[in-house]
Amino acid sequence: MTGERDAKKKSKKKKRGGSKRKMTVEQAVAFRSVSEWVFLDSQSPSSSLSEWVDDFGVQKSAGRRVVFELHCHSKFSDGYMSPSKLVERAHANGVKVLALTDHDTLSGIPEALEAARKFGIKIIPGVEISTIFNSRGESSVEEPVHILAYYSSCGPTRLEELEKVLSNIRDGRFLRAKSMVTKLNKLKLPLKWEHVARIAGKDVAPGRLHVARALVEAGHVENLKQAFARYLFDGGPAYAIGSEPPAEETVRLISETGGVAVLAHPWALKNPVPIIESLKDAGLHGVEVYRSDGKLAAYSDLADAYGLLKIGGSDYHGRGGHSESDLGSVNLPVLALHEFLTVARPIWCGAIKDMLQSYANEPSDTNLTRITRFAKIRVPKGNLPPSQGEDLIERCLSSWLTVDERRNAEFEDIRSRFLNTSIKQASAEVILEKN
Ligand SMILES: [Zn+2]
Ligand SMILES: [Zn+2]
Repeated sequence: MTGERDAKKKSKKKKRGGSKRKMTVEQAVAFRSVSEWVFLDSQSPSSSLSEWVDDFGVQKSAGRRVVFELHCHSKFSDGYMSPSKLVERAHANGVKVLALTDHDTLSGIPEALEAARKFGIKIIPGVEISTIFNSRGESSVEEPVHILAYYSSCGPTRLEELEKVLSNIRDGRFLRAKSMVTKLNKLKLPLKWEHVARIAGKDVAPGRLHVARALVEAGHVENLKQAFARYLFDGGPAYAIGSEPPAEETVRLISETGGVAVLAHPWALKNPVPIIESLKDAGLHGVEVYRSDGKLAAYSDLADAYGLLKIGGSDYHGRGGHSESDLGSVNLPVLALHEFLTVARPIWCGAIKDMLQSYANEPSDTNLTRITRFAKIRVPKGNLPPSQGEDLIERCLSSWLTVDERRNAEFEDIRSRFLNTSIKQASAEVILEKN
């Protein structure tokens, strides 16, 4: 941008993103492609979509905006809201695509998907995996690293393998929270394990935030911030490590299970550069660089230097209070969204293909439920459930993939193998959503 135009922009602009301009050709192409994917299963004429952006390449709110929220937590980890409430709030905030990224669990996804249907929101099944980075240098520094994984609407391939890793981490979190409580007690802060467990809720792996909340409730600190600043920060007097897997290994596992791996909140890291470098080698796809207060230049430059995607999300937990970024509050430029989907869609498409292929090779109920574990197939009222395999595949594909994605030789091949295969009524019950 020339200095003259820059000055003009400044004088006209009152606050960040205040101006409005027509999209560039590149932005318009990106926007159309993003919207095509977002509004796949609803009839949305793209002509009614807004084609205006602000100075930062973020769509303006005139017309229909495509808001992505790519990082948030529900009660299934340390969030305060149920997935349904979260989806409802996201919808109220204008979110069109929501990735639920609970810590070390995918358990909230089915409820989120169910709720999302009511509002016409798209859910990206996600998970934020707790890992440990060990620098290979002489000074063996350990650092906790959170890695976000984004999956297709069918979820991860080889789910059992991923689940095993996640359940190990969750078990480790119980031990870790217990050890934090022990440390706090030694620091003469009486706190009961049961208190932390009660806050976490039934079957929820406790995290630091749950311990912090118990500290507040017990009156040992005034607020959560103080709990972290005094006792629970990384390496703090009541900090304890769990049994997290190595970060590189986790990135590889995400790739191998059909996911997109993104480094969460790099600004929380002490040594982001060696971590990004090493994770990039392991197959990392992207880095969070956007927050509700804008783009963080340092991490954006790092992402560019290593050829990584730049995304971000609010990391909403539903704590309440003014300091928390709300769902949908992170403005992602349309080009960033387009780049994210350009990388993610072939990965997701491949994962769906793998799952369908397994069913074609071995048409068992188990393989069928794998395909539809997260996303049951909707049968409009009055329509018969799909009895032919081919029909089933068609319905799966049409609600998950765009026409272009479906129109390729491999899917044609799978489809032909399903020709005249009938699906037992019993199996159909498993996969169909009741109307
Ligand atoms: Zn995190
Ligand atoms: Zn998070």
